[in-house]
Amino acid sequence: MDTRLESVREIVLERNPGENEFHQAVAEVFSSLVPVLDKHPEFADASILERICEPERQIIFRVPWVDDSGQVQINRGFRVEFNSALGPYKGGLRFHPSVYLGIIKFLGFEQIFKNALTGMPIGGGKGGADFDPRGRSDGEIMRFCQSFMTELYRHIGEYTDVPAGDIGVGGREIGYLFGQYKRITNRYESGVLTGKGVTWGGSLVRPEATGYGTVLFTQEMLRTRNQTFDGQRVAVSGAGNVAIHAIAKSQALGASVVTCSDSSGYVVDEDGIDVELLQQIKEVERGRISDYAERRGGSVKFVEGGSVWDVDVTVALPCATQNELDEADAAKLVKSGLVAVAEGANMPCTSKAADIFHDAGVLFGPGKAANAGGVATSALEMQQNASRDAWTFEYTEERLTDIMVGIHDRCAATADEYGKPGNYVVGANISGFVKVADAMLAQGVI
Ligand code: NDP
Repeated sequence: MDTRLESVREIVLERNPGENEFHQAVAEVFSSLVPVLDKHPEFADASILERICEPERQIIFRVPWVDDSGQVQINRGFRVEFNSALGPYKGGLRFHPSVYLGIIKFLGFEQIFKNALTGMPIGGGKGGADFDPRGRSDGEIMRFCQSFMTELYRHIGEYTDVPAGDIGVGGREIGYLFGQYKRITNRYESGVLTGKGVTWGGSLVRPEATGYGTVLFTQEMLRTRNQTFDGQRVAVSGAGNVAIHAIAKSQALGASVVTCSDSSGYVVDEDGIDVELLQQIKEVERGRISDYAERRGGSVKFVEGGSVWDVDVTVALPCATQNELDEADAAKLVKSGLVAVAEGANMPCTSKAADIFHDAGVLFGPGKAANAGGVATSALEMQQNASRDAWTFEYTEERLTDIMVGIHDRCAATADEYGKPGNYVVGANISGFVKVADAMLAQGVI
């Protein structure tokens, strides 16, 4: 690695011991930056690299709450306010038992460049807790969210930091969080959280936006090879917010999505996943993917503990979690005729898997570009809140489509400019980084 990048990477490793996911995310961005530093020596002179890897603020707090049996439970809450060069910190909250500072930092770091790519005025941040919502009653979820917000409220605001959902945080949780914020502050500050319900300040298309956006980005990649979604055989992983809407959009464009999964295993449905049934089971009943196989019947099979990437497909959309698709999965998919991969989740492909896709000439859309539709629509929600307006579904979806096409074209043009045509990783990293670095330079050493 280039010495300018290597010295900063060493500082990151030393300052953030044991935070493997964060180290991985930094290495992935740095792998694209040598030509940028050659072209812009002023970035190195102003220590932009070192500053961009150090969050502006990191908040860690205790979240005490009482479960249904009267027992006091303690969780750990996080909010990493990473970079505000382009606007207020913006990024979701994740509630999952695996959450620790390294995961929040990796997500926050990615979010800086993703948000820059959307072209919207938003900085990067991320938060969450090591709380496991699975199996918890509605009352327990509410009490947890209220306790979490009782500390978080003093750090956020529509001009400061605007959280949203992520794994384990959907419309229900955003409702409880917003209610508690409103109660504590005595302000109906709609723009403090996004992903709200449409009757109380939310935006139409926000629930669909990440999944739809991932498919729209993939469609643009396929277009460069004179292909479309029509007739593609698609594997989607996950069965949450991103996965469900990626499945719906793929099928609306003529593809057949034959898989989805959760942490217990995956299903194969050769007739194409029935999205309505999946949504009913996962979002209304909060059931498991095995229930889908059981209820759908016929030849639909549930594979306990297996990997969804064992199924032969032409398009792969990993929409569950980080590092869920490794080099062995990538090699297998390439061998079976894969054409395109787009990351609906954040960093679902290991860096070795991404290398295999690139070497094989498979179209590869990295998460910071391919799943940026969610945060972009959150920014559209903020626009509606600021103007006390509510847009139609059609208009909002049109805006999302324009944004995704814009992100695709910006990544493609930047990759061309830096001599790596078709490499969306290089395009996304450089395009996002240069925009943030320019703003940081202009704003002085802060
Ligand atoms: P949800 O909580 O709605 O769904 C997550 C899904 O992934 C569930 O089916 C879950 O299964 C599965 N999953 C989670 N962890 C694991 C694991 N360790 N192994 C296997 N499966 C797992 O989350 P989202 O759909 O919102 O988020 C999915 C991904 O998309 C995340 O990487 C997130 O950061 C990213 N993302 C989300 C955005 C959004 O707008 N929501 C925006 C941009 C990116 P189970 O129920 O069994 O845990």
